[in-house]
Amino acid sequence: MMKPGIAAPGMAERLGVTVDERRGVEYHQLRSKDLLNKLNARPMPFGWTLNPYRGCEMACRYCFARYTHEFLGLDDRMAFERTIYVKDADRDRLVAELRRARRSGQSVAIGTATDPYQPAEGKFEVTRRVLEAARMVPGILLSITTKSTLVTRDAALLREISAASDVTVNLSVTTVDAALARRLEPRAPRPDLRFAAMKALTDAGVAARLFIMPILPRLTDDEPNLRALLVAARRAGAIGAESNVLFLRPGTREIFLEFLAIDFPRLVPEYERLYRGSAYAPPDYVREIEERVRRLADEVGLSSRRRADRPDQSSPRQLSLAW
Ligand code: SF4
Repeated sequence: MMKPGIAAPGMAERLGVTVDERRGVEYHQLRSKDLLNKLNARPMPFGWTLNPYRGCEMACRYCFARYTHEFLGLDDRMAFERTIYVKDADRDRLVAELRRARRSGQSVAIGTATDPYQPAEGKFEVTRRVLEAARMVPGILLSITTKSTLVTRDAALLREISAASDVTVNLSVTTVDAALARRLEPRAPRPDLRFAAMKALTDAGVAARLFIMPILPRLTDDEPNLRALLVAARRAGAIGAESNVLFLRPGTREIFLEFLAIDFPRLVPEYERLYRGSAYAPPDYVREIEERVRRLADEVGLSSRRRADRPDQSSPRQLSLAW
């Protein structure tokens, strides 16, 4: 049970010094023993997770990871986007951890909680060091999820890794409407720039997938928006699309509903109805949206799947890649 304002056991001694301050955001060192985190819950679409940063400056109103700052003893609700922790990344240790993941036959997912190409990466290059280590471990299964165009900085490196490993970059785009995106995801790059990044990756020979996550009821779930996202992904050479309806867990719920009350007050009653007593939207609504995405993706000629359809990769599997 977390106590507000108190770091989780073992966490306080990992919190390091302030290493930078810009645009009202503080960056601190986070000493970490292991960067890779082994998942024990099953089934899961990956066996290992890796998040180079804690907190995320992109400040998406719906970000489900906001609660993770409570483990650091930070109970200021805005700390998630203003106090970013930068993990240590020793190359040799990373290589050893990635070899362990390879031996397990399970996939490694980078950016499951926070964005590995958020603005901090431009300076600290933790994700870059992870990829440089991955290049030394051929035969791994790797996915990277981001909203940032900074991923194109590593296109050549990702291509190199792809030659000997299974790598996919998931570009997250929720709407084609730049004005709406600015309100929902204040410090993330414009949607068209994200699709340009997707195209740059696929042109470089790196597999990319569109993540429509989350789909926001009455804001981004309309047919024209979903179709436009799928068309843009197809044009950018994506191998497919994956989608999931908004998950509104405590910690995110309060911030998101406050945002709605200011920016879209007419939608507050609708969200309170849809998410009454649950972090999940009602199954009927979810089915309707899943069916919509599937039909539109078929029309557009792009393969699609629900987040729940991802293959279970938490169990060891035979690797077809030689190393
Ligand atoms: S980019 Fe991802 S991790 Fe960062 S705030 Fe947005 S949803 Fe959260």
